Amino acid sequence: MIPKNPDMVIMDTSIIAKAPVRLLVSGMGDALSTYFEARANMTSGKATMAGGLATRSAQALAKLCYETLLEDGLKAKIAVENGVSIKAVENIIEANTYLSGIGFESSGLAGAHAIHNGLTKLEECHHLYHGEKVAFGTLVQLVLENAAMEEINTVLAFCRSVGLPTNLFDMGVKTLNHTTLRAVAEASTAEGETIHNMPFPVTADNVYSAILTAHQLGQ
Ligand SMILES: [Zn+2]
Repeated sequence: MIPKNPDMVIMDTSIIAKAPVRLLVSGMGDALSTYFEARANMTSGKATMAGGLATRSAQALAKLCYETLLEDGLKAKIAVENGVSIKAVENIIEANTYLSGIGFESSGLAGAHAIHNGLTKLEECHHLYHGEKVAFGTLVQLVLENAAMEEINTVLAFCRSVGLPTNLFDMGVKTLNHTTLRAVAEASTAEGETIHNMPFPVTADNVYSAILTAHQLGQ
């Protein structure tokens, strides 16, 4: 943890447009969780990351974050693959940094980031960026909360369109090892993990089942 927030954040679009596209896409994976974690936190009424209760304005930022990803994610990815910037790139930069940053801090983290933390137990996933694991964590959270199939399909289609992982094989896992996956589920539900901000009790068993289901759905 860093003791203090930065005084200023500067994003230079021309630098970002020339950077490896995987970095931008990984940022989208991280931003993908913002709305769903904010929504869970609002429902449970747990404290936000900044302390205090969630506000409707923070929820609106989180929702705009998600809508921007769906609307501009693929366009931005294609532009950056070509080393150029278009309006969609600027919108995605805003979603990945401002909307996601303020959206999560003024709302809260929940299942997706806790599952990300659990996934660090998988050695095969060590080469992945934070946002790539968070994207799969988002899918697992949606299964955990029994989200509508329509919503899950929207998230799956988005991940596939920009190249974010939607199953364990995409993340480098060769064969499913149930002992290791249990360890992932245990770590995700450790005391103090943000998964306990979900609006219902979550056990390691629940997470284990959701990981396997999300993995299958995402294939
Ligand atoms: Zn994150």
